[in-house]
Amino acid sequence: MSVLKGVNSPSIQTPPSPTTKDMAVSGEPDKLVRKSSTKRTPNDFIFGKVIGEGSYSTVYLSKELSTGKEFAIKVLEKRHIIRERKQQYVMRERDVFNKIGAHPFFIQMYYTFQDPDRLYFVLTYARRGELLDYLHKLSSFDENCTRFYSAELVVAIEYLHSLGIIHRDLKPENILLNDEMHIQITDFGSAKMIKTDVDNTDKPETGRKKSFVGTAQYVSPEILTSKDPHCSTDLWALGCIIYQLLSGLPPFRGGHEYQIFQKITKLEYEFPEGFGDTARDLVEKLLVLEPSERLGCEEKGGMKILKNHEFYKGIQWDTLHEQKPPELTPYLPSNSLNSQLWSKNRPGLDDARIGEIIADTVLTDDERKIRLEEQIKSNEYHRFVEGNLILKQGLLDKRKGLFARRRMFLMTEGPHLYYVDPANKVLKGQVPWSKELHPEVKTFKIFFIHTPNRTYYLEDHTGHAQDWCKAIEDVWQRYYGDKDKHY
Ligand code: ATP
Repeated sequence: MSVLKGVNSPSIQTPPSPTTKDMAVSGEPDKLVRKSSTKRTPNDFIFGKVIGEGSYSTVYLSKELSTGKEFAIKVLEKRHIIRERKQQYVMRERDVFNKIGAHPFFIQMYYTFQDPDRLYFVLTYARRGELLDYLHKLSSFDENCTRFYSAELVVAIEYLHSLGIIHRDLKPENILLNDEMHIQITDFGSAKMIKTDVDNTDKPETGRKKSFVGTAQYVSPEILTSKDPHCSTDLWALGCIIYQLLSGLPPFRGGHEYQIFQKITKLEYEFPEGFGDTARDLVEKLLVLEPSERLGCEEKGGMKILKNHEFYKGIQWDTLHEQKPPELTPYLPSNSLNSQLWSKNRPGLDDARIGEIIADTVLTDDERKIRLEEQIKSNEYHRFVEGNLILKQGLLDKRKGLFARRRMFLMTEGPHLYYVDPANKVLKGQVPWSKELHPEVKTFKIFFIHTPNRTYYLEDHTGHAQDWCKAIEDVWQRYYGDKDKHY
């Protein structure tokens, strides 16, 4: 039978440590859940929509019947855990949640219970979802937002380490956000307990020592080279996250994990143009191969030194969780060009639009047929547009944070807006059309396309951003505008 100790009160500050008996790993996941004095069962909750799915779990938005309080309930299938031999991960996650207790920057586990088939972890519901989604939507954050969110992360890491816990899988997916847009860290399946408290300390990872823990882009060199676990591993991840928030991409990238690992162990990464000097200095002091040389580690004077870095000037560390987070704002290096450069007399003559096709969005059947025949005969991009008639095309720089890639954009009937890598002639994706899509001119060169999940940040070097926006609006009108009108 399972062993229980007090994880059943929502007001627990520091839940008791599990017993040795409780830690025993067996093939029975019943041992992973402790009984509770006021025992909860699945019938105490209404299970709502699925909020997310992990490799071994489904997370439901739930409401407790007696209090009306909302929770995220993580449901794990026992059979699946046993089949995949993940008992240890599940137990570790439970133990770390217990040890963390209630802290503003962490998801809290309120109750655990089980039925014959499943384990249930009742967790704080982080209503605003993952930080990663906001990063995808905006491409990157400005320095002010990056400073605030990474400062919250610093405080969270400091707390974790004070408990002897190394997270080992910090990344924007594992940073959730509460109603007030403060961070709530989760996912402790890869965590490691290093304090000497017998019951809570992880056994040495003998057989698994060389196995890779974490996520390729954020994994530290010492994890790859199987050195002893070091708190500094989370500081490496912090460096990767700061770099990513500001620039839009993590520092170590590659087509496959091996390539990424190679770059990590050689410290092979670059700063894109526009990356601020102070932020760069901080990242360089965190992305250091030797764990004991990283800013913030005990050997270098601890987190106090990290908090005193110039990048964090002005941060009121003790009250971060009570402060109003800055509104998330993208870092747009060309923003300074904005209003004063925008004028009706845009530069360049219409000849500058060589290579572009600007078509009326509404054509007669005969016109369409003629244009399509012409397109099939002479447009090398025809093969990317699934037989659709191209209404407008042109080269644009598609920005993701501080990185820009030149793409051939092809707006077609349908509507579709494809983009192709012009050098390698590979279709890279499509801007998803919907009624919510809308363009916004920023300067004569720069415009945005807003979609529900992402804002595309585009730059037309020929200076005809307004033409693009006009054409997109025309297509929008045709497909989503007033249907009674005839265009
Ligand atoms: P894996 O197990 O594959 O590493 P995971 O750790 O993301 O995946 P879960 O912890 O089961 O798996 O979470 C699945 C998804 O549910 C997450 O991606 C997250 O978006 C969402 N989620 C998890 N916990 C919460 C929570 N407390 N509040 C809101 N959303 C959550």
